[in-house]
Amino acid sequence: TSLARIRNFAIIAHIDHGKSTLADRLIQFCGGLADREMKEQVLDSMDIERERGITIKAQTVRLEYPAKDGVTYVLNLMDTPGHVDFAYEVSRSLAACEGSLLVVDASQGVEAQTLANVYQALDAGHEIVPILNKVDLPAAEPERVKQQIEDVIGLPADDAVMISAKTGLNIEGVLEAIVTRLPAPTGDETKPLQALLVDSWYDPYLGVVILVRVKQGRLRRNMRIRLMAKGTAHPVNDIGVFTPKMQPVDDLGPGEMGYITAAMKTVADCNVGDTITDDRAPATEQLPGFRPSIPVVWCGLFPTDADEFEKLRESLGKLRLNDSSFHFDPESSAALGFGFRCGFLGLLHLEIVQERLSREFDLDLIATAPSVVYKLTKNNGDEIELHNPADMPDPSLVKSIQEPWIKATIFVPDEYLGSILALCSERRGVQVDLTYVGNRAMAVYRLPLNEVVFDFYDRLKSISRGYASFDYAVDGYEEGDLVKISILVNNEPVDALSFMAHRSAADRRARSICEKLKDLIPRQLFKIPIQAAIGGKVIARETIGAMSKDVTAKCYGGDISRKRKLLDKQKEGKKRMRQFGKVEIPQSAFIAALKMD
Ligand code: GDP
Ligand code: MG
Repeated sequence: TSLARIRNFAIIAHIDHGKSTLADRLIQFCGGLADREMKEQVLDSMDIERERGITIKAQTVRLEYPAKDGVTYVLNLMDTPGHVDFAYEVSRSLAACEGSLLVVDASQGVEAQTLANVYQALDAGHEIVPILNKVDLPAAEPERVKQQIEDVIGLPADDAVMISAKTGLNIEGVLEAIVTRLPAPTGDETKPLQALLVDSWYDPYLGVVILVRVKQGRLRRNMRIRLMAKGTAHPVNDIGVFTPKMQPVDDLGPGEMGYITAAMKTVADCNVGDTITDDRAPATEQLPGFRPSIPVVWCGLFPTDADEFEKLRESLGKLRLNDSSFHFDPESSAALGFGFRCGFLGLLHLEIVQERLSREFDLDLIATAPSVVYKLTKNNGDEIELHNPADMPDPSLVKSIQEPWIKATIFVPDEYLGSILALCSERRGVQVDLTYVGNRAMAVYRLPLNEVVFDFYDRLKSISRGYASFDYAVDGYEEGDLVKISILVNNEPVDALSFMAHRSAADRRARSICEKLKDLIPRQLFKIPIQAAIGGKVIARETIGAMSKDVTAKCYGGDISRKRKLLDKQKEGKKRMRQFGKVEIPQSAFIAALKMD
């Protein structure tokens, strides 16, 4: 395909503004799938994505569009995830394209991730076409939103394309804008091969599949490819494109996107951002890579049943095959036995992985409280990274602790602003900027990540009744007065419940967790003291009273089936409990206890 006939573009938007629906319409218009194959949101292929209505993996499709100028163009579309946790997936999709369609819901206007995505697209040097979606809604205010795009984003919006992805209104207008307003790719096919490794995943039938964007040279079937950063070479089995079905082709030239299957055992060999070249006639230089994904939130995952440790290891390995941003290392806990310390891009990522483990791999797990990565300097000058509060050395040996900070952008309707600002300052936030766009405020704050990972997003949403939007980027480390709070149940420390907190919040958090545990841990046959301590000093304490022996006692003998039900229920509950010395702690306690009010 000649370069002038190719357009590579990403669709970016705030969550729920209609990216996936638009992608479906574009595929439908260009006849990529027969009507019967056209199920809603073809690109959101994972079950969890469908159920939650979010896009996690960036997906790509090649379309052919016969334009009004009489030329048939090849369009490579990349759908991108909208949630903050997956900003990294967005950045790699953008690196493979020359332009972006910026979808804005005409009834909602610009939101936090609209802005974040635009900045990423501008960083990637993209041409951007604004699309106003949902103009079918009575609440749509396209003129006001156009003005907002110009005021807030600084992007000319006069010729924004007005559409309804739902009804299919003006989809052709989008396609015309793609071919007339987005640039064609450039690249010399006579030069040595340079192709960007955009993504890779494991397919049970095909093995490792790699998504590539050819920048220069030509990628051919039967070629031996070399991964320049990794330094390994592999024979190519097959080359093809997604229509969105996999369709083999003979070669891929500059500006083209497609897949390679090669004889590789694991995706660990193909790092996203690596440069693929021809092993026999290699390029001299690698393409500029993009920043690697860094997990910002860690937690421990332990099997409820210790015998399932190997199964957990296998399952984590399988998950990682399709998600290189997820990390895991074996760890052991005095309380929970053997498990894994796992790193995630954010809390949603953590939840999704946990959900997949229980759903797809049928694993019953205990997750410890999420924690960020602290940097410790010891008195002897040693520097260590602390991924797990349980590993915190004796505080007398520690000279200083640094914690990660973020820069957060929050969009919120005026009436909720007061409570949002209160939430930010309660979480040690420092205001950087506060501006108004119509009746919406944009607040920019610096916040310690440790105050955010836990339940900040939930709180933000509930305070604003769902109207606030939030985006953040990690913004360096700063020294903080941080302490480790240990939790003792029945006088035994439960390492999996320990957490780091700022000293100013330590008493309040310690009291709150003890109160919660008192409700979360079922009564046993004896009294159980629950204590929170910093070092050897107890700062909060509660006691769970003893209970009578037989839960069926309150059934007064009589009804046997009711009695059995109760016993079954108790048994079921057992599965999700862990024994700590003499005390059983239910799985729900581990995370629930740390939720702040
Ligand atoms: P994404 O998160 O950006 O991928 O958004 P989706 O494509 O999943 O759309 C979010 C919701 O908005 C879905 O319920 C869609 O049916 C709905 N939606 C998308 N486009 C339109 C539109 O043009 N009009 C209306 N009324 N609803 C739309
Ligand atoms: Mg989507």
